[in-house]
Amino acid sequence: MKHNFGAGPCILPSEVFQEASQAIIDFNNSGLSILEISHRSKAFEAVIEETEALVKDLLSVPDGYSVLFLQGGASQQFAMVPMNLLPQNGKAAYLDSGTWASKAYKEAQKFGAIEVVASSKDANYTYIPKEYTIPADAAYFHYTSNNTIYGTELFEAPQSPIPLVCDMSSDILSRKINVADYGLIYAGAQKNMGPAGVTLVIVKNDILGKTGRDIPSIFDYRKHAEAGSMYNTPPVYAIYVSLLNLRWLKAKGGIEEIERENIIKARTLYDEIDRNPLFKGTAKLEDRSRMNVTFVMENAELEKSFLALTEERGLVGLKGHRSVGGFRASIYNALTITSINTLVDLMQEFAEKNA
Ligand SMILES: *Cc1c(COP(=O)(O)O)cnc(C)c1O
Repeated sequence: MKHNFGAGPCILPSEVFQEASQAIIDFNNSGLSILEISHRSKAFEAVIEETEALVKDLLSVPDGYSVLFLQGGASQQFAMVPMNLLPQNGKAAYLDSGTWASKAYKEAQKFGAIEVVASSKDANYTYIPKEYTIPADAAYFHYTSNNTIYGTELFEAPQSPIPLVCDMSSDILSRKINVADYGLIYAGAQKNMGPAGVTLVIVKNDILGKTGRDIPSIFDYRKHAEAGSMYNTPPVYAIYVSLLNLRWLKAKGGIEEIERENIIKARTLYDEIDRNPLFKGTAKLEDRSRMNVTFVMENAELEKSFLALTEERGLVGLKGHRSVGGFRASIYNALTITSINTLVDLMQEFAEKNA
């Protein structure tokens, strides 16, 4: 048994892995593998309907929104968002809070004028910019709620005179959100919802169809919405495994319960980082992420040996992203408090040895 602190693809509950592997051999006692059934079959129709219903239920998605399961990852959404929402000769506004946020606005620049309202790049994205004005004449305002690489998170939806578009790839389903605050939410599944290969999009229907652009069908949200995410062959298996994970989340008490646990998990780890003289956090205190905990050592020369120790004890995925260095503990929904405590114990053991 490993403790998987990887940033994505990442840990899912072991029950989900069990059931998912069973379905490859024999899906629901049908004598067929989930990998060989038609996406137009009754059996898969039931899967995608339940997956959509669970997303709506867990996130309290109001009427007037479509829930879509697409491919191409969050990166494809960097292009699809402006293609579908940015009118020709129009403008969109973006907040630059990290690498993914900056990739999103750079992609959007191919479709129109982009105003970057604020950036924390000068401080290596250690905080979320807060002093900015969202221009009322832009088509939408895009931000990233959790900056996976830097370990910062924006918990409150900004007040905005224009529709909000949010990349929630690494904190979707980890805490309560008010979907009605948003025009569009997207998330690559592989950080909290399921395996790689499916991307969740929740879009308010009445913001679509206003660009005057002739959008290729495969990139047109309306086409996917009309077809119930079956415009073409959907990622059947990735959707099925997401369903298993959503059922797990629902059964354990839904968003309210997972948020409660996530708060405790994050606090436990940050408390140790702040208490232990060997370690220090890299993100600004008030912007600390509950999903990706970034930290370094006061004495960088010790980092290699601490990393080696974690690997020796079965803690994997703790190496920080190359743009930050140090360590990153990704503590997504399925990671247990036991794994957190194991890491904390190891930090204490290491501090005693190196006192
Ligand atoms: C991982 C990540 C992405 C990229 O996702 P892909 O599905 O690989 O395209 C985008 N945004 C955020 C916030 C991420 O964490």
